[in-house]
Amino acid sequence: MLATSCVNAPFARAVLAWYDKFGRKNLPWQQNKSLYKVWLSEVMLQQTQVATVIPYFERFIQAFPNITALADAPLDEVLHLWTGLGYYARARNLHQAAQTIRDQYQGEFPTDFQQVLALSGIGRSTAGAILSSCLDAPYPILDGNVKRVLSRYFAVEGWPGESRTEQRLWQLSAEVTPTSRVADFNQVMMDLGAMVCTRTKPKCSLCPLQSDCRANIRGNWADYPAKKPAKNLPRRQSYFLILAHNGKVALEQREQSGLWGGLYCFPQFSDKTELLAHLQSMGIRRYQEWTAFRHTFSHFHLDIYPVFAQLDEQREDENRSDWKKVAENSAQYESSVPTKVKYWYDPASPAQIGLATPVKNLLTEFQKRTALWQEPCSANTLKKKPKA
Ligand code: SF4
Repeated sequence: MLATSCVNAPFARAVLAWYDKFGRKNLPWQQNKSLYKVWLSEVMLQQTQVATVIPYFERFIQAFPNITALADAPLDEVLHLWTGLGYYARARNLHQAAQTIRDQYQGEFPTDFQQVLALSGIGRSTAGAILSSCLDAPYPILDGNVKRVLSRYFAVEGWPGESRTEQRLWQLSAEVTPTSRVADFNQVMMDLGAMVCTRTKPKCSLCPLQSDCRANIRGNWADYPAKKPAKNLPRRQSYFLILAHNGKVALEQREQSGLWGGLYCFPQFSDKTELLAHLQSMGIRRYQEWTAFRHTFSHFHLDIYPVFAQLDEQREDENRSDWKKVAENSAQYESSVPTKVKYWYDPASPAQIGLATPVKNLLTEFQKRTALWQEPCSANTLKKKPKA
């Protein structure tokens, strides 16, 4: 579906005039624009705000100044630079797409829409955003910001995640997108969604679309876009073993696909008994329970129970009450967990690897506690269970 409007149509004229005055033109990826920079920024901006993305984008461009450099880099290094940005499949897809571009297109980002769409991690809106931004190609876009503006302006009923509603929004996007100044138009639609037609408290009095916007006229912007049908996220739990040795901590690399794919995490256990059996099989007699917390993914809550133990180090303070005994009776646990290959991570001299956010936070906690070890330990028992 291509753009069908013209720059002088009322919608396009209003928003382009606003763009000329207020649109964002100084973002890092807008300087010395290239398909590579715009692609990188578009992927980073999926589910993430501009202010968060900027430092990540700058570090990435410094480390990988072109597509071939990104393709040649180890995935660990890419994930390391992505650490904290979340949705790590984006980084893996980016790396894979860079290798495709290196191998199939001599390192030059393709300019054919279907070829761009075929790259890992690039959907219809991202492909349109990249090609329109760099080449002024007449492709409409439909990211979360644009969906919100169009849903309110046209009072579109239905949740945009439903295919019928999404189809309708694509059609409207094509109808309002002009066939020239496409780059500016798509940028201003994203800017309006981010700066004016915000999720809560849109600034309708500052909006160039206010006179014709149905939601503004009716005063019911909060009804659009319709909310996703509510559903309770399921809960899962995981025991994280923070196993220390000589100031280093054992990590394991996860499978490349799936949750936190390719990132380094603490050894994980589905329940405490399994973890204690593992400690016992390693000859470890004492452990501490750190405060449990919840990490929420888009499709489930993960309740994380960190358990700290030390390998070959019996500390003086292990008789304190915050240290617990693994077991008096060696027959108490049946270990079914094989000892996995460990990567000994040194938080004081961190390696360039990708870390899931809860792991990164627990490593910071480990460093703090290590620094405080000369002082009495704080309460380390599991104080409260996460709320359901
Ligand atoms: S007038 Fe208000 S609700 Fe309508 S598009 Fe502008 S900011 Fe959004």
